[in-house]
Amino acid sequence: MQKSQSYKKFEINNCKCGYNPVTDYLDNLYYCNREKTEFNICCKFQNGGCGRTVYGKTIGESVEKWNNGINDETIY
Ligand SMILES: [Zn+2]
Repeated sequence: MQKSQSYKKFEINNCKCGYNPVTDYLDNLYYCNREKTEFNICCKFQNGGCGRTVYGKTIGESVEKWNNGINDETIY
């Protein structure tokens, strides 16, 4: 089975803080649930980001929100 590589067909912009989640993609880009109906993009604090987290029903939706500067939650 394919592991979270499918984000690769999307262009993911740098976060406002300058960090790009793709840098540590295994940590930052993944489905939150087993059913794969919620995908999140994290600017993980531990990886040098600002903690910004965006959720979407699909990878495409998450990426679109991310690239539009939306911040659903900040996780420290
Ligand atoms: Zn950030």
